Amino acid sequence: HETVYAIASGKGGVGKTTTTVNLGTVLAQAGERVAIVDTDLGMANLAGFVSLTPDATTLHDVLAGDASIDDATYRLADNIVAVPSGTDLDEYAKTSPEGLRTVVEELRSTYDFVFLDVGAGVSHETVLPLGLADSVVVVSTPEPAAVQDSQKTVELTARAGGEIAGLVVTRTHPNSDISYDEIAGQLEIPLLGTIPEDPTSRESVCAGTPLVVYDPRSSASGAYRRLASDLSGID
Ligand code: ADP
Ligand code: MG
Repeated sequence: HETVYAIASGKGGVGKTTTTVNLGTVLAQAGERVAIVDTDLGMANLAGFVSLTPDATTLHDVLAGDASIDDATYRLADNIVAVPSGTDLDEYAKTSPEGLRTVVEELRSTYDFVFLDVGAGVSHETVLPLGLADSVVVVSTPEPAAVQDSQKTVELTARAGGEIAGLVVTRTHPNSDISYDEIAGQLEIPLLGTIPEDPTSRESVCAGTPLVVYDPRSSASGAYRRLASDLSGID
């Protein structure tokens, strides 16, 4: 298939990195070759989610022209690699986001699925991946402020010439009377799924292990498996 997904949101802290790591891990467990990429260049933190050391060669070095994509690609488990970004602001300043185009095309030719963990906000490096991906997954909590910011992601995707796959609502509560279909309806995009609020999510980040590995029986792990299968068509 060679599908590149951008995992995006207007607001930070809504679960983009969690979604990137867990969707990627589920598809790798199903035998697909997967790359997860930290394109949140300014606020990189994907490395910590998967126990990588960010002082090694990163996407920053690739985008600064100092390393090849292979040098910044790390094997995480069977079928899955990560391309982390660094946390050093001086290194970040040397990067040229334009290089992402080449990075995405190279990864596309090697992996079945590529997940781009996109930064929040409206900067060039945030908007660029929305157009480079085949499909944009918009992530939002049910909070009105997050939903409002998701509207911007939808608009920016259109401007970047990208396609929206739909909306994932994260950190939902079982007894809430919020209609997630209505939220997706407001944004005029399909509802792909919901991920419940789950304390094991934070624990798995502290452990540097994807939630679906850390606690496969947790409710959020089940929701990520369903989302991965609905999104990709793979069981
Ligand atoms: P983003 O990449 O959008 O900034 P993260 O994936 O880093 O968001 O998640 C932000 C915080 O929310 C993290 O501490 C994470 O553990 C927590 N979190 C994410 N999803 C859930 C969930 N379903 N239940 C509880 N906490 C969650
Ligand atoms: Mg993140």
